[in-house]
Amino acid sequence: MRVHFLCLLLIIVEVVWGQNTPKFSRNDFPSDFIFGAGTSAYQVEGAVAQDGRKPSIWDTFTHAGEMPDNSTGDIASDQYHKYKEDVKFMTDIGLDAYRFSISWSRLIPNGRGDINPKGLEYYNNLIDELISHGIQPHVTIHHLDLPQALEDEYAGWLSPKIVKDFTAYAKVCFREFGDRVTHWTTINQPNILAMTYSNDLFPPMRCSSSSGLNCKPGNSSVEPYLVGHHALLAHAAAATLYKEKYQGKQNGLIGLNVYSFWCVPFTNSTADVTATKRVLDFITGWLVNPLIFGDYPEIVKKNAGSRIPTFTKHQSEKVKGSFDFLGLNHYTTVYVQDSSKSPQKGLRDFNGDMFAKLSATKDGTPGQYTPSYLSSTPSGLQKILEYFKKVYGNPPIYIQENGRATPYNETLNDTARIDYLSGYLNATLSAVRDGSNARGYFVWSFLDVFELLSGYQLRFGLYYVDFESKELTRQPKLSAKWYSNFLKKSKEMNIEKANLHALTHSPL
Ligand code: BGC
Repeated sequence: MRVHFLCLLLIIVEVVWGQNTPKFSRNDFPSDFIFGAGTSAYQVEGAVAQDGRKPSIWDTFTHAGEMPDNSTGDIASDQYHKYKEDVKFMTDIGLDAYRFSISWSRLIPNGRGDINPKGLEYYNNLIDELISHGIQPHVTIHHLDLPQALEDEYAGWLSPKIVKDFTAYAKVCFREFGDRVTHWTTINQPNILAMTYSNDLFPPMRCSSSSGLNCKPGNSSVEPYLVGHHALLAHAAAATLYKEKYQGKQNGLIGLNVYSFWCVPFTNSTADVTATKRVLDFITGWLVNPLIFGDYPEIVKKNAGSRIPTFTKHQSEKVKGSFDFLGLNHYTTVYVQDSSKSPQKGLRDFNGDMFAKLSATKDGTPGQYTPSYLSSTPSGLQKILEYFKKVYGNPPIYIQENGRATPYNETLNDTARIDYLSGYLNATLSAVRDGSNARGYFVWSFLDVFELLSGYQLRFGLYYVDFESKELTRQPKLSAKWYSNFLKKSKEMNIEKANLHALTHSPL
């Protein structure tokens, strides 16, 4: 009786769920469209003090007890030891590509100078393992985990010295791994990296004392702009080096990643509509305008005044066009409300310069924007792709991160993640049909990892990691099976027809 009831329940869930899920298959995408999933070094590798790796600023931050759950990435998902198993799981899903990042302080422990042979060996092994399974390595050179040595020596991204050290590090990557890497991303979301200089959520935890936050003394009115500037110069220097010295032989592509959200006016008042445009210029245009047009957006220069550095003619020429593709990290859409009538008091920081309030939901008064990974607005991804087409001349784009968090105690039946992913994939398809130059899509994340804002309190993975077991056992969630079905089956397997019951019981 109980079994019958469960079957009935499953059928009802399937029917209801099926009605809401979009109809499309992999074959509707261009045949060379790349599907993958990603992680980043500090979030997945573990083995932080092993084989010659030295600390990054994230090790220092987590060891100081700064995470809300007091966690660290010391072990994380232990991919350092389990990469072979993980690559096998990627093959099971049928991924075309794996996006991962290199830990700078594992490869070059002091940030500059000697290369760690064990670091070299690890990334060579990982890349070879991927290639031997037919999976393209999409490598991010820097994903927020700056070597602590460079932070101590000259305050890392705050100093122009970072440009030379980053380029030398990138050169080691191109030289050692470039014969097999198809896609290089120089830096993951420099806009978020820079904005962290006005909050206490990420290392190096610097902000203005007037913010009242738990930071080291900094200057949030100036430092985000300096960091953004240095990141653009570092990207351009590394990309130029790649294009001049390596690309001809190695045939890979290089790009920069940008964090983006779509913005919707809170009301249809002119003030909110103008504020929305302003926020897009601040969040996305800040990095993308220099890459496309050679300079910051006018409104950013106007509002930041002398606090934002100026590109020399030479720098502007070097930054402009210094990419083969742009990487987008896209999770959500925000509402924008003009706040120019009540500007920030005292020294204006980056957020204050936008003269806008951002909020994740539209229920009553908008609060400050907090990254609510639970809100799903797939049309936002379609809109931002259209925006890149119209405003930036339709550059090639890889959606490098898109995904949804679920609580730590989630079950393997993560239908909410399937809903989210199918909605965003459908939105990507609509944009591609309308002429967007999107070339690939990566789920964040391939497996559960140490999360930057929440440690182990939230999970994003297609694969479940049992962080309480010594073996850190992996198990495919329903979303892994769903993604696998989408990737492996063609026309006859419309997502709408994905059979939850069959999926639940199918092996992967
Ligand atoms: C970061 C990831 C992070 C994800 C979810 C992204 O912006 O690049 O490292 O895990 O957000 O919080």
